[in-house]
Amino acid sequence: MSARDWIEKDFYRELGVSSDASADEIKKSYRKLARELHPDANPGDAKAEARFKAVSEAYGVLSDPAKRKQYDEARRLFAGGGGFPGGGFGSGGFDVNDLFGRAAQGTGGGGLGDLLGGLFNRRGGAASATRPRRGEDVETDVRIDFTEAVKGATVPLRLSSPAACTTCGGSGAKPGTTPHVCATCSGSGLVTRSQGAFAFSEPCRDCRGTGRIIDDPCPECGGDGVSTRTRTLTVRIPSGVDDGQRIRLAGQGEPGRNGGPSGDLFVRVHVNPHSVFGRQGNDLTLRAPMTFPELALGTTLTVPTLDGKVTLKVPAGTASGRVLRARGKGITKRDGTSGDLLITLEVAVPNNLSSEARKALEAYADVTKDHDPRGDLNALLEGR
Ligand SMILES: [Zn+2]
Ligand SMILES: [Zn+2]
Repeated sequence: MSARDWIEKDFYRELGVSSDASADEIKKSYRKLARELHPDANPGDAKAEARFKAVSEAYGVLSDPAKRKQYDEARRLFAGGGGFPGGGFGSGGFDVNDLFGRAAQGTGGGGLGDLLGGLFNRRGGAASATRPRRGEDVETDVRIDFTEAVKGATVPLRLSSPAACTTCGGSGAKPGTTPHVCATCSGSGLVTRSQGAFAFSEPCRDCRGTGRIIDDPCPECGGDGVSTRTRTLTVRIPSGVDDGQRIRLAGQGEPGRNGGPSGDLFVRVHVNPHSVFGRQGNDLTLRAPMTFPELALGTTLTVPTLDGKVTLKVPAGTASGRVLRARGKGITKRDGTSGDLLITLEVAVPNNLSSEARKALEAYADVTKDHDPRGDLNALLEGR
């Protein structure tokens, strides 16, 4: 840890107190934070653990009047981001090495040892833990209807993330009760064992290294101290969003640490298919079954659009499979222009015919028997 790292840390902010806070206020705030952030109350939560270390480090300095005075002087000296005067560090009347030497001596501060229990090496990792860090990005999914995707929609989004249990404040103990100090390790969280000539410490098994025993677990979190926090966000889905697309909501991810910016929230949009319309980019697609006479004789065709209907002329002699285009009836793009509605005309062959219709069709086949629609194929057959 460099001197600059040390000076640039805001121990007061870390503990959530003002720089003129009394020793009592500092102690109170620390105890509250240490309870909430204790690794035992946040199993597997690396963030809580890093913050726990940072808070402990801050308290280690601010709880010691001499260290606090030196820290305050150091900050006053280098306030304003002017940097360090080259080589003249000791000229301000204090010795930063002396400061480090003492700050690093394990659980020095009053009241620190009982909660920390020597669980952590206070120097290790603490420097990066207190540096401003951007919050994590969060990704979530939302499912919307086809029409909502085309027109844009405002959807409520419920996000769940682990947080300190609000019922017990993260202590894991039922409100109104207090965990008692572990008798096995006297609250240190460590037990010493001797083996031959060696004695070594290991985490206490009775309290899992926390130094505390919870008699009455919190009914909300079952003693974990962690519960799921749900927040609701209103997300504006822009018009024209496609299935599988990701929308980025800047700053709506996890909060940053030590004044760092929040992460982003990415919302992956899933679009339910429409019963009738399909989509190709900004064009809508539609299949229109036609009778043979409609295509052969020509007709006017009226089809639905997403917000009304459109009528098109089908010229006589239109081939099955032909695509008609209704301009501007597709998906509105960001620049305000719209895609088209593409209508594919398909002959619908009836699967049974009345005898009258059969006769009429046979008569039609008879009068058109000289027309061979497979002329090209037949030419190939004959060529063999
Ligand atoms: Zn709880
Ligand atoms: Zn114990």
